[in-house]
Amino acid sequence: MTETLIKVDLATSPYDNDQIHNRWHPDLPMVATVKPGDDFIIECYDWTGGFIKNDESAADVRDIDLSIVHFLSGPIGVEGAEPGDLLVVDILDIGAFKNNAWGFNGVFSQKNGGGFLTEQYPEAMKSIWDFQGMFTKSRHVPGVSFAGLIHPGLIGCLPSKSLLETWNTREQGLIDTNPTRVPGLANPPFAPTAHMGRLKGDARDAAAATGARTVPPREHGGNCDIKDLSRGAKVYFPVYVDGAGLSLGDLHFSQGDGEITFCGAIEMPGWAHLKVELIKGGMAKYGIKNPIFKPSPIKPVYNDHLIFEGISVDENGGQHYLDVTVAYRQACLNAIEYLKKFGFTGGQAYSILGTAPVQGHISGVVDVPNACATLWIPTEIFDFDIRPGADGPTRYLSGDVDVLHAPDL
Ligand code: ZN
Repeated sequence: MTETLIKVDLATSPYDNDQIHNRWHPDLPMVATVKPGDDFIIECYDWTGGFIKNDESAADVRDIDLSIVHFLSGPIGVEGAEPGDLLVVDILDIGAFKNNAWGFNGVFSQKNGGGFLTEQYPEAMKSIWDFQGMFTKSRHVPGVSFAGLIHPGLIGCLPSKSLLETWNTREQGLIDTNPTRVPGLANPPFAPTAHMGRLKGDARDAAAATGARTVPPREHGGNCDIKDLSRGAKVYFPVYVDGAGLSLGDLHFSQGDGEITFCGAIEMPGWAHLKVELIKGGMAKYGIKNPIFKPSPIKPVYNDHLIFEGISVDENGGQHYLDVTVAYRQACLNAIEYLKKFGFTGGQAYSILGTAPVQGHISGVVDVPNACATLWIPTEIFDFDIRPGADGPTRYLSGDVDVLHAPDL
Protein backbone atom coordinates (compact mmCIF):
# COMPACT_ATOMS: atom_id res chain seq x y z
CA MET A 1 0.00 0.00 0.00
CA THR A 2 1.28 3.44 -0.91
CA GLU A 3 2.45 5.39 2.12
CA THR A 4 0.99 8.80 2.97
CA LEU A 5 4.10 10.79 3.94
CA ILE A 6 2.34 14.03 4.86
CA LYS A 7 -1.09 14.19 6.46
CA VAL A 8 -3.13 17.32 7.10
CA ASP A 9 -5.98 17.85 9.55
CA LEU A 10 -8.27 20.48 8.06
CA ALA A 11 -9.70 21.20 11.51
CA THR A 12 -6.33 22.47 12.77
CA SER A 13 -4.08 25.37 11.77
CA PRO A 14 -1.30 24.63 9.28
CA TYR A 15 1.00 26.55 11.65
CA ASP A 16 0.60 23.57 14.04
CA ASN A 17 1.75 21.08 11.39
CA ASP A 18 5.56 20.93 11.09
CA GLN A 19 5.36 19.19 7.68
CA ILE A 20 4.02 22.45 6.24
CA HIS A 21 5.90 25.66 5.33
CA ASN A 22 5.02 28.95 3.61
CA ARG A 23 8.43 30.33 2.56
CA TRP A 24 11.23 29.04 0.30
CA HIS A 25 14.59 28.61 2.03
CA PRO A 26 17.48 26.12 1.56
CA ASP A 27 17.71 25.46 5.33
CA LEU A 28 14.19 24.00 5.62
CA PRO A 29 14.68 20.45 6.99
CA MET A 30 13.29 17.58 4.91
CA VAL A 31 10.13 16.22 6.54
CA ALA A 32 10.45 12.80 4.87
CA THR A 33 12.95 11.06 2.60
CA VAL A 34 12.25 8.81 -0.37
CA LYS A 35 14.36 6.89 -2.90
CA PRO A 36 14.30 7.28 -6.68
CA GLY A 37 11.54 5.03 -7.96
CA ASP A 38 9.37 5.43 -4.85
CA ASP A 39 5.74 6.49 -5.04
CA PHE A 40 3.96 8.14 -2.12
CA ILE A 41 0.99 10.32 -1.19
CA ILE A 42 1.15 13.91 0.05
CA GLU A 43 -1.85 15.69 1.55
CA CYS A 44 -2.20 19.47 1.22
CA TYR A 45 -4.14 22.30 2.81
CA ASP A 46 -5.79 24.75 0.47
CA TRP A 47 -3.38 27.63 -0.18
CA THR A 48 -4.90 29.81 2.59
CA GLY A 49 -4.82 27.03 5.18
CA GLY A 50 -8.61 27.00 5.62
CA PHE A 51 -9.09 30.76 5.96
CA ILE A 52 -11.77 30.95 3.24
CA LYS A 53 -15.09 29.44 4.31
CA ASN A 54 -18.01 27.77 2.51
CA ASP A 55 -20.53 30.46 3.46
CA GLU A 56 -22.44 33.43 1.98
CA SER A 57 -19.97 36.25 2.62
CA ALA A 58 -16.89 37.50 0.77
CA ALA A 59 -15.57 39.28 3.88
CA ASP A 60 -12.92 36.56 4.33
CA VAL A 61 -11.55 37.15 0.80
CA ARG A 62 -11.49 40.88 1.50
CA ASP A 63 -9.83 40.60 4.91
CA ILE A 64 -7.29 37.79 4.48
CA ASP A 65 -3.69 38.54 5.46
CA LEU A 66 -1.94 37.48 2.24
CA SER A 67 1.44 37.21 3.96
CA ILE A 68 0.30 33.81 5.36
CA VAL A 69 0.23 32.09 1.96
CA HIS A 70 0.96 29.62 0.42
CA PHE A 71 0.85 26.69 2.84
CA LEU A 72 2.96 24.00 1.16
CA SER A 73 3.49 20.35 2.06
CA GLY A 74 7.15 19.32 2.25
CA PRO A 75 9.99 19.49 1.61
CA ILE A 76 10.45 15.83 0.61
CA GLY A 77 14.08 14.72 0.35
CA VAL A 78 15.15 12.38 -2.44
CA GLU A 79 18.17 10.14 -1.76
CA GLY A 80 21.06 10.84 -4.10
CA ALA A 81 19.69 14.09 -5.52
CA GLU A 82 22.39 16.74 -6.00
CA PRO A 83 22.50 20.25 -7.48
CA GLY A 84 22.43 20.05 -11.28
CA ASP A 85 20.21 16.94 -11.38
CA LEU A 86 16.68 16.84 -12.70
CA LEU A 87 14.00 15.56 -10.36
CA VAL A 88 11.39 13.74 -12.42
CA VAL A 89 7.98 13.87 -10.76
CA ASP A 90 5.07 11.80 -12.03
CA ILE A 91 1.69 13.07 -10.87
CA LEU A 92 0.17 9.58 -10.76
CA ASP A 93 -3.11 10.79 -9.35
CA ILE A 94 -4.51 13.83 -7.55
CA GLY A 95 -7.84 14.60 -5.96
CA ALA A 96 -10.10 16.36 -3.50
CA PHE A 97 -10.94 14.91 -0.07
CA LYS A 98 -14.26 13.04 -0.23
CA ASN A 99 -15.46 14.76 2.96
CA ASN A 100 -14.53 18.23 1.66
CA ALA A 101 -16.12 18.30 -1.80
CA TRP A 102 -16.07 22.02 -2.45
CA GLY A 103 -13.67 24.80 -3.41
CA PHE A 104 -13.65 28.55 -3.71
CA ASN A 105 -12.88 31.20 -6.29
CA GLY A 106 -12.18 34.75 -5.22
CA VAL A 107 -11.14 38.13 -6.48
CA PHE A 108 -9.07 40.13 -4.04
CA SER A 109 -9.80 43.73 -3.19
CA GLN A 110 -7.61 46.17 -5.10
CA LYS A 111 -6.26 47.26 -1.70
CA ASN A 112 -5.30 43.69 -0.77
CA GLY A 113 -3.67 41.88 -3.66
CA GLY A 114 -6.02 42.78 -6.51
CA GLY A 115 -6.40 40.60 -9.60
CA PHE A 116 -5.74 40.77 -13.33
CA LEU A 117 -8.76 43.09 -13.85
CA THR A 118 -8.45 44.99 -10.57
CA GLU A 119 -9.10 48.40 -12.20
CA GLN A 120 -12.47 47.18 -13.48
CA TYR A 121 -13.29 44.97 -10.45
CA PRO A 122 -11.75 46.57 -7.34
CA GLU A 123 -14.11 44.90 -4.82
CA ALA A 124 -13.50 41.55 -3.14
CA MET A 125 -15.71 38.80 -4.62
CA LYS A 126 -16.18 35.09 -3.94
CA SER A 127 -18.00 32.10 -5.37
CA ILE A 128 -18.27 28.59 -3.91
CA TRP A 129 -18.00 25.60 -6.25
CA ASP A 130 -19.38 22.19 -5.28
CA PHE A 131 -17.82 18.98 -6.58
CA GLN A 132 -19.78 15.96 -7.73
CA GLY A 133 -17.11 13.42 -8.59
CA MET A 134 -15.16 14.93 -11.49
CA PHE A 135 -17.71 17.71 -12.15
CA THR A 136 -18.30 21.08 -10.54
CA LYS A 137 -20.88 23.85 -10.46
CA SER A 138 -21.55 26.88 -8.29
CA ARG A 139 -24.69 28.15 -6.56
CA HIS A 140 -23.27 31.64 -7.18
CA VAL A 141 -22.70 31.18 -10.93
CA PRO A 142 -25.72 29.38 -12.45
CA GLY A 143 -25.83 28.25 -16.07
CA VAL A 144 -22.39 26.65 -16.21
CA SER A 145 -20.80 23.34 -15.15
CA PHE A 146 -17.68 21.51 -16.27
CA ALA A 147 -15.28 18.64 -15.60
CA GLY A 148 -12.33 19.34 -13.32
CA LEU A 149 -8.69 19.21 -14.41
CA ILE A 150 -7.09 18.94 -10.97
CA HIS A 151 -3.51 20.16 -10.59
CA PRO A 152 -1.11 21.67 -8.05
CA GLY A 153 -0.87 25.42 -8.68
CA LEU A 154 2.45 25.38 -6.87
CA ILE A 155 5.20 22.73 -6.97
CA GLY A 156 8.99 22.90 -7.01
CA CYS A 157 12.27 22.18 -5.26
CA LEU A 158 14.13 24.22 -2.63
CA PRO A 159 16.41 27.01 -3.91
CA SER A 160 20.13 27.11 -3.15
CA LYS A 161 21.45 29.91 -0.96
CA SER A 162 22.75 31.83 -3.97
CA LEU A 163 19.52 31.38 -5.93
CA LEU A 164 17.51 32.66 -2.95
CA GLU A 165 19.79 35.72 -2.75
CA THR A 166 19.28 36.32 -6.47
CA TRP A 167 15.49 36.21 -6.03
CA ASN A 168 15.45 38.57 -3.08
CA THR A 169 17.84 41.05 -4.71
CA ARG A 170 16.09 41.31 -8.05
CA GLU A 171 12.57 41.48 -6.57
CA GLN A 172 13.59 44.17 -4.09
CA GLY A 173 15.06 46.10 -7.02
CA LEU A 174 11.65 46.04 -8.69
CA ILE A 175 9.85 47.09 -5.51
CA ASP A 176 12.28 50.02 -5.16
CA THR A 177 11.10 51.45 -8.50
CA ASN A 178 7.67 52.19 -6.94
CA PRO A 179 7.63 51.20 -3.26
CA THR A 180 4.19 52.65 -2.46
CA ARG A 181 2.28 51.05 -5.34
CA VAL A 182 -1.03 49.35 -4.45
CA PRO A 183 -1.01 46.42 -5.00
CA GLY A 184 2.75 46.08 -4.57
CA LEU A 185 5.06 45.21 -7.46
CA ALA A 186 6.42 42.19 -5.53
CA ASN A 187 6.35 40.75 -2.01
CA PRO A 188 9.59 40.93 0.01
CA PRO A 189 10.41 38.46 2.83
CA PHE A 190 8.18 38.93 5.87
CA ALA A 191 9.12 37.14 9.08
CA PRO A 192 6.05 37.66 11.34
CA THR A 193 3.82 35.19 9.47
CA ALA A 194 6.55 32.84 8.21
CA HIS A 195 6.03 29.12 8.85
CA MET A 196 9.44 27.48 8.54
CA GLY A 197 8.43 23.85 9.00
CA ARG A 198 10.79 21.99 11.31
CA LEU A 199 13.41 24.74 11.58
CA LYS A 200 13.89 25.83 15.19
CA GLY A 201 15.58 28.57 17.24
CA ASP A 202 17.98 31.13 15.80
CA ALA A 203 18.31 29.23 12.51
CA ARG A 204 14.54 29.42 12.15
CA ASP A 205 14.43 33.15 12.83
CA ALA A 206 17.24 33.90 10.39
CA ALA A 207 15.56 31.86 7.65
CA ALA A 208 12.17 33.46 8.33
CA ALA A 209 13.73 36.91 7.80
CA THR A 210 15.08 36.01 4.34
CA GLY A 211 12.81 33.19 3.13
CA ALA A 212 11.32 33.96 -0.26
CA ARG A 213 7.60 34.47 -0.49
CA THR A 214 5.75 31.83 -2.47
CA VAL A 215 3.72 34.13 -4.72
CA PRO A 216 5.65 34.25 -8.02
CA PRO A 217 6.78 31.45 -10.29
CA ARG A 218 10.57 31.33 -10.42
CA GLU A 219 13.38 29.22 -11.94
CA HIS A 220 12.46 26.23 -9.75
CA GLY A 221 8.84 26.27 -10.91
CA GLY A 222 6.93 27.30 -7.80
CA ASN A 223 3.62 29.08 -8.27
CA CYS A 224 3.31 28.53 -12.03
CA ASP A 225 -0.45 27.86 -11.97
CA ILE A 226 -0.33 25.65 -15.05
CA LYS A 227 -3.69 23.93 -15.43
CA ASP A 228 -2.19 21.10 -17.51
CA LEU A 229 0.06 19.83 -14.67
CA SER A 230 -2.71 17.38 -13.96
CA ARG A 231 -3.15 13.68 -13.23
CA GLY A 232 -0.77 11.81 -15.52
CA ALA A 233 1.64 14.70 -16.13
CA LYS A 234 5.41 14.20 -15.75
CA VAL A 235 7.48 17.19 -14.63
CA TYR A 236 11.27 17.66 -14.76
CA PHE A 237 12.44 20.00 -11.99
CA PRO A 238 15.91 21.54 -11.62
CA VAL A 239 17.62 20.48 -8.36
CA TYR A 240 19.57 23.13 -6.41
CA VAL A 241 20.24 21.51 -3.01
CA ASP A 242 21.29 18.05 -1.81
CA GLY A 243 18.12 15.97 -1.51
CA ALA A 244 16.17 18.29 -3.89
CA GLY A 245 13.46 19.19 -1.33
CA LEU A 246 10.21 18.85 -3.24
CA SER A 247 7.21 20.83 -1.93
CA LEU A 248 3.74 21.38 -3.33
CA GLY A 249 0.38 22.88 -2.53
CA ASP A 250 -2.23 25.32 -3.85
CA LEU A 251 -4.31 22.52 -5.38
CA HIS A 252 -6.89 23.57 -7.96
CA PHE A 253 -9.98 21.58 -9.00
CA SER A 254 -9.96 23.57 -12.25
CA GLN A 255 -8.46 26.79 -13.60
CA GLY A 256 -8.58 28.96 -16.69
CA ASP A 257 -5.26 29.92 -18.30
CA GLY A 258 -3.83 32.95 -16.52
CA GLU A 259 -5.66 32.28 -13.22
CA ILE A 260 -6.89 35.81 -13.76
CA THR A 261 -8.92 36.19 -10.57
CA PHE A 262 -5.71 35.59 -8.52
CA CYS A 263 -7.61 34.04 -5.54
CA GLY A 264 -7.90 32.09 -8.60
CA ALA A 265 -8.98 28.80 -9.99
CA ILE A 266 -11.18 26.65 -7.77
CA GLU A 267 -9.01 26.42 -4.67
CA MET A 268 -9.17 23.33 -2.49
CA PRO A 269 -7.30 21.08 -0.09
CA GLY A 270 -6.56 17.55 -1.31
CA TRP A 271 -3.94 14.89 -1.96
CA ALA A 272 -1.43 13.98 -4.64
CA HIS A 273 0.02 10.53 -5.42
CA LEU A 274 3.53 11.13 -6.74
CA LYS A 275 6.50 9.11 -7.99
CA VAL A 276 10.05 10.45 -8.26
CA GLU A 277 13.10 9.56 -10.36
CA LEU A 278 16.42 11.31 -10.95
CA ILE A 279 18.32 12.29 -14.09
CA LYS A 280 21.88 12.83 -12.84
CA GLY A 281 23.40 16.01 -14.24
CA GLY A 282 20.20 16.53 -16.23
CA MET A 283 20.20 20.32 -16.07
CA ALA A 284 23.42 20.58 -18.12
CA LYS A 285 22.65 17.54 -20.28
CA TYR A 286 19.42 19.07 -21.51
CA GLY A 287 20.19 22.79 -21.11
CA ILE A 288 17.36 23.17 -18.63
CA LYS A 289 16.98 26.33 -16.54
CA ASN A 290 13.23 26.21 -15.84
CA PRO A 291 11.11 23.06 -15.41
CA ILE A 292 9.72 21.25 -18.43
CA PHE A 293 6.85 18.78 -18.42
CA LYS A 294 4.81 16.30 -20.39
CA PRO A 295 1.04 16.74 -20.04
CA SER A 296 -1.43 14.06 -19.04
CA PRO A 297 -2.70 11.55 -21.59
CA ILE A 298 -6.17 12.20 -20.12
CA LYS A 299 -8.07 15.45 -19.94
CA PRO A 300 -11.65 16.74 -20.32
CA VAL A 301 -12.67 17.00 -23.96
CA TYR A 302 -14.02 20.40 -24.98
CA ASN A 303 -13.50 20.72 -28.70
CA ASP A 304 -15.74 23.67 -29.53
CA HIS A 305 -14.74 27.16 -28.44
CA LEU A 306 -15.75 30.76 -28.82
CA ILE A 307 -12.47 32.65 -29.16
CA PHE A 308 -12.07 36.27 -28.15
CA GLU A 309 -9.27 38.42 -29.55
CA GLY A 310 -7.44 41.17 -27.72
CA ILE A 311 -4.74 43.55 -28.95
CA SER A 312 -2.23 45.70 -27.13
CA VAL A 313 -4.42 48.80 -27.12
CA ASP A 314 -5.66 49.42 -23.60
CA GLU A 315 -9.12 50.28 -22.21
CA ASN A 316 -8.41 54.00 -22.67
CA GLY A 317 -7.23 53.68 -26.26
CA GLY A 318 -3.58 53.84 -25.26
CA GLN A 319 -1.16 52.21 -27.70
CA HIS A 320 1.30 49.67 -26.21
CA TYR A 321 4.21 48.07 -28.06
CA LEU A 322 3.70 44.30 -28.43
CA ASP A 323 2.47 44.06 -24.82
CA VAL A 324 0.97 40.59 -24.34
CA THR A 325 -0.40 41.44 -20.89
CA VAL A 326 -2.42 44.34 -22.26
CA ALA A 327 -3.63 42.19 -25.16
CA TYR A 328 -4.74 39.30 -22.91
CA ARG A 329 -6.52 41.74 -20.60
CA GLN A 330 -8.48 43.08 -23.59
CA ALA A 331 -9.41 39.54 -24.65
CA CYS A 332 -10.70 38.87 -21.10
CA LEU A 333 -12.66 42.13 -20.94
CA ASN A 334 -14.16 41.44 -24.37
CA ALA A 335 -15.28 37.98 -23.25
CA ILE A 336 -16.85 39.38 -20.06
CA GLU A 337 -18.84 42.01 -21.98
CA TYR A 338 -20.12 39.29 -24.31
CA LEU A 339 -21.16 36.92 -21.48
CA LYS A 340 -23.00 39.77 -19.72
CA LYS A 341 -25.40 39.89 -22.69
CA PHE A 342 -26.71 36.45 -21.61
CA GLY A 343 -27.48 37.63 -18.09
CA PHE A 344 -24.25 36.86 -16.25
CA THR A 345 -23.06 39.65 -13.99
CA GLY A 346 -19.55 40.95 -14.54
CA GLY A 347 -18.44 39.15 -11.39
CA GLN A 348 -19.88 35.86 -12.60
CA ALA A 349 -18.27 36.18 -16.02
CA TYR A 350 -14.91 37.04 -14.40
CA SER A 351 -15.28 33.98 -12.16
CA ILE A 352 -15.99 31.72 -15.17
CA LEU A 353 -12.81 32.91 -16.91
CA GLY A 354 -10.79 32.16 -13.76
CA THR A 355 -12.25 28.72 -13.05
CA ALA A 356 -13.42 26.99 -16.23
CA PRO A 357 -11.05 25.16 -18.61
CA VAL A 358 -10.54 28.36 -20.61
CA GLN A 359 -7.44 28.50 -22.80
CA GLY A 360 -5.22 31.53 -23.28
CA HIS A 361 -3.01 31.78 -26.36
CA ILE A 362 -0.38 34.23 -27.50
CA SER A 363 -1.33 34.49 -31.13
CA GLY A 364 1.07 37.12 -32.49
CA VAL A 365 4.02 39.06 -31.04
CA VAL A 366 5.73 40.42 -34.17
CA ASP A 367 3.16 42.59 -35.95
CA VAL A 368 4.18 45.99 -34.62
CA PRO A 369 2.81 47.73 -32.71
CA ASN A 370 0.11 45.26 -31.61
CA ALA A 371 0.45 41.93 -29.87
CA CYS A 372 -2.58 39.68 -30.29
CA ALA A 373 -3.78 37.37 -27.49
CA THR A 374 -6.80 35.08 -27.63
CA LEU A 375 -9.07 33.65 -24.95
CA TRP A 376 -10.79 30.35 -25.80
CA ILE A 377 -14.05 29.65 -23.98
CA PRO A 378 -15.45 26.13 -24.35
CA THR A 379 -19.06 26.45 -25.51
CA GLU A 380 -20.13 23.07 -24.01
CA ILE A 381 -19.75 24.24 -20.40
CA PHE A 382 -22.89 26.41 -20.66
CA ASP A 383 -26.46 25.21 -20.14
CA PHE A 384 -27.48 27.24 -23.21
CA ASP A 385 -26.13 28.21 -26.60
CA ILE A 386 -23.70 31.14 -26.29
CA ARG A 387 -22.84 31.38 -29.98
CA PRO A 388 -23.81 34.59 -31.78
CA GLY A 389 -26.73 34.39 -34.20
CA ALA A 390 -29.01 36.53 -36.31
CA ASP A 391 -31.64 36.86 -33.58
CA GLY A 392 -29.23 38.41 -31.10
CA PRO A 393 -28.43 37.10 -27.61
CA THR A 394 -31.27 35.69 -25.55
CA ARG A 395 -31.01 36.58 -21.90
CA TYR A 396 -30.95 33.18 -20.17
CA LEU A 397 -30.21 34.21 -16.60
CA SER A 398 -32.48 36.36 -14.48
CA GLY A 399 -29.66 38.15 -12.67
CA ASP A 400 -31.15 37.46 -9.22
CA VAL A 401 -28.12 35.38 -8.23
CA ASP A 402 -24.58 36.79 -8.13
CA VAL A 403 -21.13 36.06 -6.79
CA LEU A 404 -20.64 37.34 -3.23
CA HIS A 405 -19.39 40.93 -2.96
CA ALA A 406 -17.56 42.57 -0.06
CA PRO A 407 -17.24 46.34 -0.54
CA ASP A 408 -14.23 47.94 1.12
CA LEU A 409 -14.93 49.00 4.68
ZN1 ZN B 1 -4.27 28.72 -6.35
